[in-house]
Amino acid sequence: MSGVAVVRRDSNASGEGCTDAPVLRERGQREVFCGLTGIIWLHRKIQDAFFLVVGSRTCAHLIQSAAGVMIFAEPRFGTAIIEERDLAGMADANDELDRVVGQLLARRPDIRLLFLVGSCPSEVIKLDLSRAAQRLSRDHMPDVRILNYSGSGIETTFTQGEDACLASLVPELPAEEAEAPPSLLVVGTLADVVEDQFTRLFDALGVGPVRFLPSRRADALPPVGPNTRYLLAQPFLAETARLLESRGATRLPAPFPLGIEGTTAWLRAAADAWSVSAEAFDAVTEPARRRAAQALSHHRERLAGQSIFFFPDSQLEIPLARFLSRELDMTLLEVGTPYLHRQHLAEELAMLPAGTTLSEGQHVDRQLDRCRAAAPDLVVAGLGLANPLEAEGITTKWSIELVFTPIQGYEQAGDLAELFARPLNRRTRLRV
Ligand code: SF4
Repeated sequence: MSGVAVVRRDSNASGEGCTDAPVLRERGQREVFCGLTGIIWLHRKIQDAFFLVVGSRTCAHLIQSAAGVMIFAEPRFGTAIIEERDLAGMADANDELDRVVGQLLARRPDIRLLFLVGSCPSEVIKLDLSRAAQRLSRDHMPDVRILNYSGSGIETTFTQGEDACLASLVPELPAEEAEAPPSLLVVGTLADVVEDQFTRLFDALGVGPVRFLPSRRADALPPVGPNTRYLLAQPFLAETARLLESRGATRLPAPFPLGIEGTTAWLRAAADAWSVSAEAFDAVTEPARRRAAQALSHHRERLAGQSIFFFPDSQLEIPLARFLSRELDMTLLEVGTPYLHRQHLAEELAMLPAGTTLSEGQHVDRQLDRCRAAAPDLVVAGLGLANPLEAEGITTKWSIELVFTPIQGYEQAGDLAELFARPLNRRTRLRV
């Protein structure tokens, strides 16, 4: 590696770091958003898709309040409210759904892909949305493809809604041509600006063709097959990955593209698969690494030595903890995650400092007790926990912001560090 100081502490996948670390597994009351939340970022990404939540007024309120401030034109999500009166007969509920979909598609000819998104009210659970999607597809294909997935709070947390959505797309991906050259598929929603930066880097490295899932347009779904190599851009896509592999694609193991180190290793996994030399890799990535190192240095002074406690929420916790400890010298008190996918996180776990307390799942009262006893400088938690903790004088960062904000890649490394520095700076100002 040339020039730029990429922070490297010795770690490997042979049992160092947290590869074999014990994990505190907890099952109890948990405080997380449901998978409907993913619609907020997915609808911005797939520009000709519409997300129709089949749910209750509670679901409508969740989506509206989480996304309402962003509505300035015709929104591409909505809620078909299935109420108790519909229970008089499931046929009525299906008729009602067909009517709502028919009206929507007549009014919005720009829609090419419609997701029926299931939720957890009992009225909705009784509806067979997969049959509804098949029935409606017969009526509206080829103009509109209609798929379904569940964002129910019983089955999904927060970011798992994206996994369920992308998993529903995998069977729809066209098969790659028999003699197709190897291609790279980047899997997981990235902000367009981040996608464009990665596209330029892959181009400069000679890696490609490169495609993204989800694609920006539903009528340009990427092909998949045995010559597809895929990189996960997000750590919460277990089912999508499983389905891609069932179609012949091969995962390139890598940490996630957060911070300089994660981004470098992520890009290198693709570069190695395309036999890019170390010299060419360094030449292409060095300017961006240098800029990122400079951006991080502004925040390291504020964050170094500060302790942090992660409540489980987005499944981004382990990659974030790796970045904060290795590139900003923060101290990890506990890293909680809703689910720990050991295979997808193997490279991340190997890089976490040995002895880090890891927890999976949640028993919220016990975890709150551990958090208070540890007295962290900063807590990362969902909205439901962050506000009460702030009231107790504990400084918090909302984990949802880390999903809504572009944080991947070299150019965003400084912004990512700033997201953690900002609440600490605010707290300091309040104390002055
Ligand atoms: S899907 Fe369930 S948890 Fe999510 S908003 Fe609707 S009722 Fe609430």
